[in-house]
Amino acid sequence: MSASNIRHTNNMAHKKMILDLDTGIDDALALAYAVGDPNVDLIGIISSYGNTLMTTAAQNSLNLLHLLGADDVPVFLGESHSSTTNHFDVMPISQLIHGENGIGDVTLETSPRSVEQQSGVDFLIESAHKYNDDLIFIPTGPLTNLASAIKKDSAVATLIGNTTLMGGALTVPGNVTPFTEANIHQDPEDADFVFTRQKNLTMVGLDVTLRTLLTKKETTAWRALDTTAANKFAELMDFYIDAYANLNIDKKGAALHDPLAVAVGIDHTYVSTLPLSMHVTYDKESGDYGRTIGNKDKLFEPTTSKVAVLVDTNRFVSDFQAMMLSVLKK
Ligand code: CA
Repeated sequence: MSASNIRHTNNMAHKKMILDLDTGIDDALALAYAVGDPNVDLIGIISSYGNTLMTTAAQNSLNLLHLLGADDVPVFLGESHSSTTNHFDVMPISQLIHGENGIGDVTLETSPRSVEQQSGVDFLIESAHKYNDDLIFIPTGPLTNLASAIKKDSAVATLIGNTTLMGGALTVPGNVTPFTEANIHQDPEDADFVFTRQKNLTMVGLDVTLRTLLTKKETTAWRALDTTAANKFAELMDFYIDAYANLNIDKKGAALHDPLAVAVGIDHTYVSTLPLSMHVTYDKESGDYGRTIGNKDKLFEPTTSKVAVLVDTNRFVSDFQAMMLSVLKK
């Protein structure tokens, strides 16, 4: 599969994809998957804060695209902190999982390119109007950028054909608190704003991502390709697998959180979903701050939002590995 060649044909039949990444390690895997999948045209990456600072995430995305020979994909700056703060500091646990530079402390060649002048929020608004049903939007960090776009132009909530986010937890505990998943935890207010407005929303949360694990067996196969891209990706993924083991998150392997959201955005048959109108709790006194949960006042109303609750683990992990072997071989 010569993915990038197909991508460059700019076939209008292809869906357009925008990634919104707080570029840590699993974001890097999501980026590689989107670059490699011949069924979508990756038209841009918006930067977010979370695993790392927003500006670091943008530089990581530029460098990763350069590493993969995808220097035609523009990178845009997004919001640098949540809607309720004026500053963001990376959590120490994020640095333990993703490294101080967000990508496992692996050094990549600096991209010859810079970020775009246009803001990520404006790029998203423009793309929503331009591509509407053909646009797949994949946020894999906090939902601040999407919320800002909707606040600036409310049509965005109905225009984007498919929003598939990595975040939240419905049937399993959170990974920051018993109720709260990390991406949602960064900005529960804006997450609620998005969950209660965005049409055609699919939540790919810990319910499914914790069931998709990668091990050093797979990264050993990447290394065997012996390209620069394969060696660098193996190095950063091994950092993540080691962090999962050392921090007792999971000793069996490291979760493919963000790439699963990309895969589901392209092919929803990887997961089984539950139709549900959701909201996010953000009352700090309530004890369940940052919980992604069904809205009991909307149980009798039609909904366009869905929660992924089961995943075809073997099919996804095997397809993910095939995609990585294809992308990294160049
Ligand atoms: Ca992420």
